[in-house]
Amino acid sequence: MDFSYSQKVKELQGKLTAFMEANVYPNERIYEQQLNEQESRWSDVPPIMEELKQKAKAEGIWNLFLPESEFGAGLTNQEYAPLCEIMGRSLIGPEVFNCSAPDTGNMEVIVRYGTDRQKEQWLRPLLAGEIRSCFSMTEPAVASADATNIEARIERDGDEYVINGRKWWSSGAGDPRCKIAIVMGKTDLSANRHEQQSMILVPLDSPGVKIERMLPVFGYDHAPHGHGEITYENVRVPAENILWGVGKGFAIAQGRLGPGRIHHCMRLIGAAERALEELCKRVQSRTAFGKPLARQGVIGEWIADSRIEIEQARLLTLKAAYMMDTVGNKEAKAEIAMIKVVAPSMALRVLDRAIQALGAAGVSNDFTLAAQWANARTLRLADGPDEVHRAQVAKLELKKYQ
Ligand SMILES: Cc1cc2nc3c(=O)[nH]c(=O)nc-3n(C[C@H](O)[C@H](O)[C@H](O)COP(=O)(O)OP(=O)(O)OC[C@H]3O[C@@H](n4cnc5c(N)ncnc54)[C@H](O)[C@@H]3O)c2cc1C
Repeated sequence: MDFSYSQKVKELQGKLTAFMEANVYPNERIYEQQLNEQESRWSDVPPIMEELKQKAKAEGIWNLFLPESEFGAGLTNQEYAPLCEIMGRSLIGPEVFNCSAPDTGNMEVIVRYGTDRQKEQWLRPLLAGEIRSCFSMTEPAVASADATNIEARIERDGDEYVINGRKWWSSGAGDPRCKIAIVMGKTDLSANRHEQQSMILVPLDSPGVKIERMLPVFGYDHAPHGHGEITYENVRVPAENILWGVGKGFAIAQGRLGPGRIHHCMRLIGAAERALEELCKRVQSRTAFGKPLARQGVIGEWIADSRIEIEQARLLTLKAAYMMDTVGNKEAKAEIAMIKVVAPSMALRVLDRAIQALGAAGVSNDFTLAAQWANARTLRLADGPDEVHRAQVAKLELKKYQ
């Protein structure tokens, strides 16, 4: 394993860092301001976002996540990791480069499992950043950590499928640009447990799709993106909207969640790096009880522990990315599960130390620490709770000694 960065990656790191400093960090507050100036925080996307997207596109730092060079930048997962990390330093960063969740995962699904027609209709505008998408798997009525529990139905009727179900936490559904949902539901209750589910493309303007409410995260609404509770009531879509094939929903979920999960981990490392940077700057600029905060015993320990934990998480992320590139997402499942447990908890610890070191400022909106903490906390649940990933790691470990 060689974890050194290639020349190409170093150049992109330089470009991204410069872009973040010149364009993204200075506009974080403007983004929020523009959101608040609208009729409602959900009515539109702050204009600054589209401006920044156009700039990033013009500079060629766009769609870096897709390993398939036909559609994306052709970077391996290992090459993308240090770049995604830089974008993750800001909560508005990933979207600027068209590299945000859930679109990256959804685009990967359409690239891998979509037909030419589906690619033309949905992938092309997603890659261009013209529309956005959501992923509707989780349901309020069942423990959705176990995807075989999903109850929504996708039933064939002539040339169409009819969809009925209630979903929640469909991230991105609030965005006025969100035009398409990938919905998971059951097509055949008599098939074996992992072949009952299918995934289907559902245009959000189809009759019968209703966004019931948007769910906040610790009080953050995440507008205009948000997390929707959606009912699908007798929604009819053409039969050709099925992805890959009937009964392939579970298999797609496994494939989709691999890249999506590691992208979250990469971003969390960036969030932790920025938190540590803010912590270090602050404690050297303030004095309490006769000496700089930086020289108060425990703070040095926080700094050291944060650096150690970030480096550990980064190395495991790179190992998981390397495995995905060399043996495939399926074979890399242990590493993906491990890093999905490690990265959110690491980021939460680093962010918490930074919040503590900043004093009351740390919990305010003057810094991004509090919002990043709330986001990182959700990632111990979203894309599979820690316990499910631990169970997976334990199962694979035990298998070695059967
Ligand atoms: C901010 C946010 C965004 C999200 N975005 C999306 C999205 O875009 N699309 C989507 O479909 N879903 C999304 N989700 C939902 C997320 O994927 C689910 O919440 C998650 O899979 C867990 O399902 P559940 O909430 O039904 O919890 P449950 O399945 O009810 O599980 C509850 C708890 O039980 C425990 N548990 C479960 N299984 C085991 C086990 N095997 N061993 C030990 N303990 C276990 C865990 O502690 C778990 O947290 C999002 C969630 C959040 C918070």
